[in-house]
Amino acid sequence: MPEKTNNVIVVFSDRSNLWVAGDAASFYDPVLGRRRVEHHDHAVVSGRLAGENMTGAGRPYTHQSMFWSDLGPEVGYEAIGLVDSSLQTVGVFAKASKKDSPKVASEQSGEAMRSDAEEEAAQKEEAASAKASSAAASASTSGKDEKYGKGVIFYLNGENRVVGLLLWNVFSRMGLARKIIRENRTYEDLAELAKLFNIHDEELVPKEQPE
Ligand SMILES: Cc1cc2nc3c(=O)[nH]c(=O)nc-3n(C[C@H](O)[C@H](O)[C@H](O)COP(=O)(O)OP(=O)(O)OC[C@H]3O[C@@H](n4cnc5c(N)ncnc54)[C@H](O)[C@@H]3O)c2cc1C
Repeated sequence: MPEKTNNVIVVFSDRSNLWVAGDAASFYDPVLGRRRVEHHDHAVVSGRLAGENMTGAGRPYTHQSMFWSDLGPEVGYEAIGLVDSSLQTVGVFAKASKKDSPKVASEQSGEAMRSDAEEEAAQKEEAASAKASSAAASASTSGKDEKYGKGVIFYLNGENRVVGLLLWNVFSRMGLARKIIRENRTYEDLAELAKLFNIHDEELVPKEQPE
């Protein structure tokens, strides 16, 4: 198998017109190295590309695929990159509200497939992140006995670069997560980076005053 190809095209270098996609594909990711991904988004996007290349598109596979699961209507996750339990992790959690659930996320997006919804959300996301980042600087971080129901877990490689992200009850932020993986760099303060995911939004809402 060729060491460095990110084409979902030929499995054996002496064959042509042989296409592979989805679970069966092994491919070279320029940032994360050789990969084999067993997830829905990868299967859909690589399958579509294999079909396009069969008709002459000749495009490499560059999609950083994500995956998700809902563990019921109240708890779900979205993840991307290397989320390997042998890697060092840093988690940043925040208080969740009722809207931080997979049920609400799919109702709001109107999309059955998260990876489609995420593309649309990515455009809105960037502007919202900047706003949340400055506002979150003033958010309270005390909160004894509070329920921290949403958060971001960063997966770091041996060089402390972010190579994977797991978002618990944080939805439609894959555009940002994908950008972080693509940048392939270290961060001095991952709590600051987590703020870009708007996880402190609810903490900024003033509590109702008793009448
Ligand atoms: C229980 C379970 C839960 C999962 N949960 C998630 C999840 O929450 N999120 C997520 O992103 N992914 C999840 N996945 C993974 C996801 O389903 C797979 O990555 C995806 O379906 C792979 O698609 P594929 O087309 O590559 O392979 P498949 O869907 O396996 O399709 C391969 C097809 O080829 C057929 N086939 C096999 N051999 C032959 C042959 N010789 N001739 C003709 N046909 C053949 C098979 O019958 C099958 O229909 C889950 C998988 C399982 C099993």
